[in-house]
Amino acid sequence: MEKAKPKKRTQQRPPFQLGGESIDAGTQKLVNLPVGVFTNNSPVDLGVVVVHGRKDGPTLLVTACIHGDEINGSEIIRRLLRSRSLRYLRGTLLAVPIANVPAFLNRSRYLPDRRDLNRLFPGSEKGSLGARLARVISEELVPACDLVIDLHTGAVNRANLPQIRVTANDEKSLELAHIFGAPVALSANLRPGSFRSICFQSNKPTILYESGEALRLDAPSIRFGLQGIISVMRHIHTLPPQKTSKRAKNPRSRKTHTIICKKSYWERSPIGGIFTPLIALGSTVEKGDALGFVSDPFGGEETQIIAENQGIVIGRTNEGLADEGDALFHIGIFQDLENARDKIALSSSTLPGEEDHPVPYDPFTDENSEIT
Ligand SMILES: [Zn+2]
Repeated sequence: MEKAKPKKRTQQRPPFQLGGESIDAGTQKLVNLPVGVFTNNSPVDLGVVVVHGRKDGPTLLVTACIHGDEINGSEIIRRLLRSRSLRYLRGTLLAVPIANVPAFLNRSRYLPDRRDLNRLFPGSEKGSLGARLARVISEELVPACDLVIDLHTGAVNRANLPQIRVTANDEKSLELAHIFGAPVALSANLRPGSFRSICFQSNKPTILYESGEALRLDAPSIRFGLQGIISVMRHIHTLPPQKTSKRAKNPRSRKTHTIICKKSYWERSPIGGIFTPLIALGSTVEKGDALGFVSDPFGGEETQIIAENQGIVIGRTNEGLADEGDALFHIGIFQDLENARDKIALSSSTLPGEEDHPVPYDPFTDENSEIT
């Protein structure tokens, strides 16, 4: 009789170290990094969920709510942390669902001193609360990761079509943008003090995802974002590829084609009044089309907003009021408009209904889960 082969002993991956805590391979932990103290003497901590896979691989940092009211990103990260896919994780995931803690508590884009956290990077140890928060992110998290996905939304009452912002000529980030698969990628200059700029300086490929509007959960934005992160994780082999048979059955897994938009502009309100839009996000417009109208609340004239160029609506206000000059429609200009329109239509058809509340799941302790 053949002897049973002795079980191979796999070498245990070293623990991940963060903020003085040690996270063993095959476990996950919420690490609270101290930042400062609130006015009521409560501590301000930056919560980071570390998911440390059993096998080696790259470290991905995913951040949300650098602007405190952009909550779609927090929900995307929450769902990612509940995802069954994480049981197969190789490498490490650093998830920060609430980066700007004080602004999140105030349901505000800005810090309590009215500053924008996304202009305070790399921050400083002895600066304002925002500067200290920026320092913790740029000194404790960025050096520990290999690539970054930063999640944003439009402003309050201003919705964005799912889109990626990338730095022109940053080839690595551009490649990730295509893998992420949002319908549109917009080249955007790096702004001094932004999180994206310090990631770029640290040579960490970074994509910034913008979708939906502030303070409002938007199902397509959340699904696109989650699907995009999982696609990137598969591409860098932190997650195994999707089985071909499963992909064929699932229409959502059809690849979304990302169209690069090199130029965009805002159509603004020609006058003050009550604003009625006539077109939705993702619509194609021709030069001279009526996009909506602004009407005099006293029963006077209705003034049409006429498209100055042909393009696709990649952002739109959802407010019913407009002062003269208010930004109403963000129009992306594409070299091949017809191709862009077809691909955007294809993207939206990849989003049939799906349950919005994945089942609670712990990838490492659930008895039916095995990391392979
Ligand atoms: Zn933002």
